[in-house]
Amino acid sequence: MKKHNFSAGPCILPQSVFKESSEAILNFNHSGLSILEISHRSKDFMAVMEEAQHLALDLLRLEDKGYKALFLQGGASTQFLMAAYNLLEKKAAYLNTGTWSSKAIKEAKLFGEVEEVASSKDKNFNYIPKNYSIPADADYLHCTSNNTIFGTQIKEFPTVNIPLVCDMSSDIFSRELDFSKFDLIYAGAQKNMGPAGTTLVVVKEDILGKVSRQIPSMLDYQVHIGKDSMFNTPPVFAVYTSMLTLRWIKQKGGIAGVQKLNEEKAALMYGEIDRNPLFEGFAALEDRSMMNATFNLKDEKLKDLFEDLAKVAHINGINGHRSVGGYRASMYNALPKESVEVLVNVMKELETQA
Ligand SMILES: *Cc1c(COP(=O)(O)O)cnc(C)c1O
Repeated sequence: MKKHNFSAGPCILPQSVFKESSEAILNFNHSGLSILEISHRSKDFMAVMEEAQHLALDLLRLEDKGYKALFLQGGASTQFLMAAYNLLEKKAAYLNTGTWSSKAIKEAKLFGEVEEVASSKDKNFNYIPKNYSIPADADYLHCTSNNTIFGTQIKEFPTVNIPLVCDMSSDIFSRELDFSKFDLIYAGAQKNMGPAGTTLVVVKEDILGKVSRQIPSMLDYQVHIGKDSMFNTPPVFAVYTSMLTLRWIKQKGGIAGVQKLNEEKAALMYGEIDRNPLFEGFAALEDRSMMNATFNLKDEKLKDLFEDLAKVAHINGINGHRSVGGYRASMYNALPKESVEVLVNVMKELETQA
């Protein structure tokens, strides 16, 4: 029996993507070969890489605007240092909205001065700071669009005259934004795009090549751009599966299409969190994430009953991150609305039984 998977990452992908990618493991493109055993320089895989890059830029509406899409390895965590390696000459500005931002700051400090423009650490990152000033002489501003662990999301991005860098690991392709506001976007695949193992990097080429330090080849965006993400062996299966998900998003009407469904799911989930007297939300109302809803039981004594009911309903992955506790329902693009309905019904059932 297929479970309702609210896992925060790695997480649910479209069923059709699971099916197609498993077929490709046995027989890729009717070639008589598995996707796992072909050369990354074969015509068939080169076409996959090209389509994945094309679809990423197309969905973000960044085609012909001076951007390149790369599929790299090392996760978003490698981007924490790679962004700084490639862009930080003297000083960078960072908005600290949670665990991932804090980790990005730690890495950037290896390369220069970091000015933390604002932080929501004072309230365990349950909100997004607003009205902060950004130093005009910083090499870039870094922010995290969606705070996977705390369930907050930036709704309005700052307008800046310096390059804007954003970790979009957990909400890329989930909502329409003016992506041309950003100069560097990165996202580990495993939250909304594909299996763990590849990281999408979308970078505006004209921000590169400005730091004076030497950059090791594997960490140099320009090297990867020069080789079209084929500098070394790319994570073939992860790129292929990500490409299938991007096709699926395109079929759903692009980002606008999945956004509509995401809004419906979030409305349903938060509606119940707010209505049900047994629960309370964790994140500040105006900063609530459409991807990760964080909430708590007001009475800890109901924990076992709630979790038993959820288990019987085949719900998986709603335990909160250890730094927040409580519960977290991750509602990525591929999560069906029906799964949210099942969870909402469990919350209602708890109210009846408590
Ligand atoms: C999961 C996550 C990361 C870490 O990604 P890895 O691919 O595991 O390095 C970074 N940033 C955000 C916002 C995340 O959700």
